[in-house]
Amino acid sequence: MARTQPAGAEAPPPVGTAAKPWDLARAPRIAVAKPRLVELSAALPYLRSIDATRTYSNFGPLNSQFETRLAAQFGLEPGHVATCNNATSGLTMALQRAAARGGRYCLMPAWTFAATAHAALAAGLTPYLVDVDPRTWALTPEIALEALPRISHGVAAIVPVAPFGLPLDAQAWDAFQAQTGVEVVLDAAAGFDALTVGRSVAVVSLHATKILGIGEGGFVISRDPDLIVDIRRRSNFGFDGSRDSSLIGCNGKISEFAAAYGLAALDHWKLQRAQYQSVLGYYRAALADLPDLRIAPGLGDDWMASTFNIEAPEAAILEIEARLGEAEIATRRWWGKGLHGHQAFRDLPRAPLPVTERLAATTLGLPCWPGLDTTAIDEISAVVRRVLTT
Ligand SMILES: *Cc1c(COP(=O)(O)O)cnc(C)c1O
Repeated sequence: MARTQPAGAEAPPPVGTAAKPWDLARAPRIAVAKPRLVELSAALPYLRSIDATRTYSNFGPLNSQFETRLAAQFGLEPGHVATCNNATSGLTMALQRAAARGGRYCLMPAWTFAATAHAALAAGLTPYLVDVDPRTWALTPEIALEALPRISHGVAAIVPVAPFGLPLDAQAWDAFQAQTGVEVVLDAAAGFDALTVGRSVAVVSLHATKILGIGEGGFVISRDPDLIVDIRRRSNFGFDGSRDSSLIGCNGKISEFAAAYGLAALDHWKLQRAQYQSVLGYYRAALADLPDLRIAPGLGDDWMASTFNIEAPEAAILEIEARLGEAEIATRRWWGKGLHGHQAFRDLPRAPLPVTERLAATTLGLPCWPGLDTTAIDEISAVVRRVLTT
């Protein structure tokens, strides 16, 4: 459609026009994320089976198969995974379980995505924000042990977060739970690739933006099958064989359609991982040996994620953000200013948060998605290199 009027003076487009001029004007040349899930043809055999089973939800055969294969992915027998319709509901159900045992607060790092706090609030707990380790960006048992005695009114649970998929020390958190009696729920939403599973429940997201995506979905995993039975009941209104709600829960189930896509995604997992590995590995090499630049330890080598964040001095990050913006290359401060920077969470109780505040100013997410080509990564890396070396 030819533009005959100056920008800003156009008449509104007719309702239903697919491409909106204001979207086109803002769409970056290189997006920050551009998920690619399995194609319909890969999911079709699984989807077709639904016509025959006439089972559409409520723990159908595709869901059972999906749970079994997810457990096997982490070296576990069936019965160690419960699917959920997103990681936020998985965290909520795990925290409902913790809340039922008493206590008012849920300890969590301020350096996380908003979902962690929403889940605790939905479970009737008050998030209590603590700081993270400057090297790994994660809450550690040491930080938690120091914070615990300063919190009165009881701590029902603690939610360590795997920042952007970084592997957490599951054994150390199991030991923390044994020592303190505080229920540990791991938010490993972005951790599908690198998660190690302990007795404490871990929750993984299968959102489209995560490394194994099915649109919306997630799962809860633990070495303790009794915990999984509890979560599965909570995901079905707290029912236990009868129609009596014996536990607090919600509708946290996935449909058979989601499970079909999940099975197809697992069939293609190796390819999906390799595609992220080629982007992350290329970035790592292109940005090697830059002064003042940090990338999460092992990312792109030992473990994969769907996001690529850099850490550099505050002034350099501002400059990189501005230069890339001028080149119409999108970036994202994925976790904003930390949880306490959100309007909904600004009054939550918290410990001093100097590391979180520094990370909010010194980290930036760069474009990362399957199919991002090396020309684009070269261009982005050249901007980062120029800012950090001049
Ligand atoms: C993505 C993410 C979530 C939310 O996952 P959903 O499946 O979208 O609910 C929670 N916590 C963290 C750390 C995340 O990165």
